[in-house]
Amino acid sequence: MILPGKTLGILGGGQLGRYAAISARTMGYRICTWDPDPESPAAKVSDYHIQGEFLSASLREEFLSIVSAATLEFENIPSELMDHLSRSIRLSPGPRAVMVFQDRVLEKEFLNSLGIPTAPYQSFRGGEDLSSFESGKRDLFPGILKRSRWGYDGKGQIPVRNPEELRAAYLLMGSVPCLLEKRVSLEKEVSLILSGDRKNGYAFFPLVENIHINGILHTSVSPASVDPKIFDMARELGLLIANSLSYEGVLTVEFFLDSQGNILVNELAPRPHNSGHFTIDSCGVSQFAQQIRVLVGAPPAIPVLSGAAAMVNLLGDLWEKGDPDFSVALSSPSARLHLYGKKDARAGRKMGHITVLGESGEKSLAEALRIYQKLHAKSS
Ligand code: ADP
Ligand code: MG
Repeated sequence: MILPGKTLGILGGGQLGRYAAISARTMGYRICTWDPDPESPAAKVSDYHIQGEFLSASLREEFLSIVSAATLEFENIPSELMDHLSRSIRLSPGPRAVMVFQDRVLEKEFLNSLGIPTAPYQSFRGGEDLSSFESGKRDLFPGILKRSRWGYDGKGQIPVRNPEELRAAYLLMGSVPCLLEKRVSLEKEVSLILSGDRKNGYAFFPLVENIHINGILHTSVSPASVDPKIFDMARELGLLIANSLSYEGVLTVEFFLDSQGNILVNELAPRPHNSGHFTIDSCGVSQFAQQIRVLVGAPPAIPVLSGAAAMVNLLGDLWEKGDPDFSVALSSPSARLHLYGKKDARAGRKMGHITVLGESGEKSLAEALRIYQKLHAKSS
């Protein structure tokens, strides 16, 4: 086991890295974050920060000279770097899972190879003129053309209704590798976060119910209001994915529940997830503390739930007229305010969130939305 006093590395410096760094420091570890952005939120709470590109060999050697083990908070880490690091230090999760999860096509092929249902799709490897894509595939419309790599928060996705729109969208994407995914008639979206490794086993947080607006997570409620059978199925699927990769770390599985009662896997993340932020305040152990525990070789802690919780994201739009009046959030005894320390509040950028703890998901969500609406009313 890697003991406190050692330095742990985090690849990426966003808010997820910031929370992981805070968790690690709480347990007595030192932290070195690495991110190209000089203003990264995680750097401000780290002992060391390396600023620069992930492909720099000299920065890689500097990172290796500082850290005893490393994890990531962002899946688009170059596989060359992951491979290199994994030969010298403990890296959780390992390069193989990250390589699959950073590419939508590989991820869907991997899921389907395990017999796990996904939305129907067709992949385009990049560069084709799509003239061969014809009426046989009309059942994928209406659909969404998604870039295979580098998409997040609904970016890199274009809705398409027919082959003509598909061709135009593909050109607009720059003919990069993509997939056309059938639009699912969604009943609900839920996500599951598990953590652990093969040796120590996996711990699960409760299933969360998510609402997205414009492809960006808006609210998450725990526990999801679904049939307990859905929770069992989600856990089985999560475990199948983790076991098949001998997964080490925190794994997030996003699910679609369709109107026919089917459970489909939407996508996977090899890291803590925005929908798991409620765990910071309501589970006795957060998704970030689990990430650090697994990294150092400890078993995942057993979550102890304080009750239901609801989270609402605070996006940069709220800062349009200057700093919002957060007294509204601080005045609510059941609310917990989180801000990530980002200076530049661009529209759509995740700046913070509020978690409300309560006796039911419904009541917690109502209070979270009340605060959210009041914050917006005061800032417009
Ligand atoms: P991202 O990497 O941006 O999270 P997702 O593929 O998860 O990409 O898409 C973001 C959101 O867009 C989803 O959570 C869902 O609300 C909506 N969405 C994406 N794909 C589909 C689909 N095939 N059918 C219905 N809604 C979808
Ligand atoms: Mg998603």
